[in-house]
Amino acid sequence: MTDADLVLTGGTVFTADTALTVAEALAVREGRIAWVGPAAEAAAQVGPATRVLDLEGRTVVPGFQDAHCHPAEGGVESLRCTLNDCHTREACLEEIARYGAANPDLEWVVGSGWSIDSFERGTPRRADLDAILPDRPAYFENRDGHGAWVNGRALERAGVTWESPDPSGGRIERDASGEPQGTLHESAMNLVGDLLPPTTPAEWETGILRAQAEFHALGITAWQDARIDTREMLAAYRAVAERGQLTMRVEGNLLWERMWGDEQIEELTAMRADGSLGRLRIRGAKIFADGVLENFTGALLEPYVDTDNYGISMFERDELKRAVVLLDAHDFQVHLHTIGDRAVRDALDAIEAAEEANGRCDRRFHLAHLQLIHPDDLPRFAELGVVANVSPYWACRSGYVDELTEPFIGPERSARMYPFGSLLRAGARLAFGSDWTVSTADPLPQLEVAVTRISPETREQEPLLPEEAIDLPTALATFTAGSAYVNFLEAETGTLEPSKLADLVVLDRDVLDPGAGPIGDARVLLTLIEGEAVYADPGLGW
Ligand SMILES: [Zn+2]
Repeated sequence: MTDADLVLTGGTVFTADTALTVAEALAVREGRIAWVGPAAEAAAQVGPATRVLDLEGRTVVPGFQDAHCHPAEGGVESLRCTLNDCHTREACLEEIARYGAANPDLEWVVGSGWSIDSFERGTPRRADLDAILPDRPAYFENRDGHGAWVNGRALERAGVTWESPDPSGGRIERDASGEPQGTLHESAMNLVGDLLPPTTPAEWETGILRAQAEFHALGITAWQDARIDTREMLAAYRAVAERGQLTMRVEGNLLWERMWGDEQIEELTAMRADGSLGRLRIRGAKIFADGVLENFTGALLEPYVDTDNYGISMFERDELKRAVVLLDAHDFQVHLHTIGDRAVRDALDAIEAAEEANGRCDRRFHLAHLQLIHPDDLPRFAELGVVANVSPYWACRSGYVDELTEPFIGPERSARMYPFGSLLRAGARLAFGSDWTVSTADPLPQLEVAVTRISPETREQEPLLPEEAIDLPTALATFTAGSAYVNFLEAETGTLEPSKLADLVVLDRDVLDPGAGPIGDARVLLTLIEGEAVYADPGLGW
């Protein structure tokens, strides 16, 4: 036997294999897992040159894989003024003033991440911005991307006055006298947004690398970028991959645009052909089937309570079918945003049509988010081999659920939100995606919600539909092996089994010990990709 390069021993090794086996030690040789077994036998792997890490009872898990996130966009946002940690109007203004003063040469002050619950009626005012940024235009997108907060200079540049009509698909928020008040909704955002300086190639590249470093520190070794929608973004991914700086395994999705029709298949196929390089792979096409329930754009089978509004399908049923059949015929892995039960049904019908038209093969279609699924559609995930790519952090009580969703969908549908347990019982495969920057990218609090259905931010709250919770080993396997499957990476990663690549994470405690406290409180100490550290906690002495 050849000596290992690295042996981790004296802890809990959660393998995420199909039997969810737990071992005590693991050996790495030439970037691959050489051996997994009991601590008592680990010494046989150790030679004079072997590095041995005593786990001291901590846990080793496969590297986490985020099956749906927006890291390139989020990384670029993080180069600008970010308000995600500002929970009040005052905190937002303080951060904007600080950023503005620290960046006096920027022609535009641009940022994002404010939340509607920080502002009266959800609509921030230009006057607040004018007080701190009187001379330069400023533009701040909200956390959900459905609105923007702008100042007087920005409105002036855009020529928006009390006389300006609302654009189609959008609204200019106005004060009592009819003057633009400072919030632009939906397509009205573009009135100012279209004037912003374009993101430079250097900014895209820095953004990707910054997100990569942040994700590695959270134990993430692969991500699926849910939307690569420009040549510039793809070029930046290629540039960092070409320079050998892309340590993350990246699966990219090109966006299928509603407005552009069937001809766009040529552009997408061409982008895919240049896309794959090093750890970067372009395989997916992303389709938005609907919007979100909070603003009544999620598509429902029955109308929102006391209305005749069924929400918005981004595509007519036949149009969606045609797009999915076409993309599938061109070997794209189709990834659909589906929130409401009508969007889910339409997507499953379209996938069924693709199988009928193109024959059955290993496609791994996936539906993202899945807030509401009609019970009749639950078994169809297993029947059609469709992966349920859910966002675990959303499956708890919050203002979004209690105030902006339940009253508008009523008790019957509220009793089946985010049905992770039901999907598993119906035989579906699950994967987890954070949807970062919409919510945290940290897998550990997301796992806590999957297991408890309670937000780690408000642990005293009632769980949301506890019968839909899943147990911790299953949740860990979903965030590793489950996501690896939808990323087409399961042959080499996703579990800790001999001969697989040594993509793994050391957590600071035995997370499987019921006395270890909530998993959301655990921390990542070490992240390895092919045996190389891409993150190490300074206290570990790595
Ligand atoms: Zn998304």
